[in-house]
Amino acid sequence: MWTRRAVMVAAVVGAAVGVAPTSLSAQGFPTRPITLVVPFAAGGPTDVLGRIVSRRMASHLGQPVVVENVGGAGGAIGAQRVQRAAPDGYTLVLGNIGTHTAVPALAQPAPYDPETDFQPVGLIATNPLVLVVRPGLATDVAGLVRYLKTPGTRATYASAGVGASSHLGGLLFLTQTGTMADHIPYRGTAPALADVAAGRVDFLFDQTVNVIGQVAGGTVTALGVSTRTRAAVLPDVPSLMEAGVPGFDTAVWNALFAPRGTPTAVVERLAEALSQALEDPAVRDRLVELGGELPTPAARGPAALAALVAAEVVRWTPILRAAASGG
Ligand code: ASP
Repeated sequence: MWTRRAVMVAAVVGAAVGVAPTSLSAQGFPTRPITLVVPFAAGGPTDVLGRIVSRRMASHLGQPVVVENVGGAGGAIGAQRVQRAAPDGYTLVLGNIGTHTAVPALAQPAPYDPETDFQPVGLIATNPLVLVVRPGLATDVAGLVRYLKTPGTRATYASAGVGASSHLGGLLFLTQTGTMADHIPYRGTAPALADVAAGRVDFLFDQTVNVIGQVAGGTVTALGVSTRTRAAVLPDVPSLMEAGVPGFDTAVWNALFAPRGTPTAVVERLAEALSQALEDPAVRDRLVELGGELPTPAARGPAALAALVAAEVVRWTPILRAAASGG
């Protein structure tokens, strides 16, 4: 362990010999607990994933990784909290296709730029979305579409807010089927799913992570998955493409981001801890049991995540803006 004085001397020497101060500032990192902002309600899919990986990362880093739920506005409030935090590696956000693609595409004005306001750390897992309906509403997609098209129907769908992945799924479904429903936003899909199960809202798109237990228990009915092929954890549920809804070939990627300007060596240390967590058989098994697909080592790190975000922004921004404007 370096003393404070030694670190200061090293910093001065480093500056004198031209060593980047960023690499020196990673010495000893982390020396105190790290906050992982989950930008949705507790008990939902983002929260569950965050708790699984943060525990393992903490043991690799030698410091606690404390999950803080900051829900609202499709995850924008929590993401913004991290965007504005000190770029020192002690405040991270668990972002996804919603916070880092759909929110900036749909929110007016965009609360942040997903590519330049954050420093990507690494990918965690990618999970299919599942279309679930309240008990008794429909047994297949055709039945739901019939219901939505029945004159006089005032249907509703839940989400975690404008730009959340659950909103992305709902918006895409309504566009692709030429139907309409009122959007009911929540602070996360844990409370949204509870309202669908209670029959207060008609349908919801949510990650396998959150729904497989409820589907197995029969409290909601799964009608389709968002990936081109069926999900191994829900083998009896057709893909939406198979059920006749075109354009559904997507899943929710979940990833860690730090504020822009976080020192490279700190980012590398965090990325390595995440990668080690993903190598842990208990972590892998749990993520797979929840329907997750894990990235290969080459697809995990900061550069691969930056490329993914850039590609997703290009792919989704025009589709989502057209869908939101009814086009
Ligand atoms: N990740 C979910 C969504 O994007 C929300 C949640 O985790 O509660 O809709």
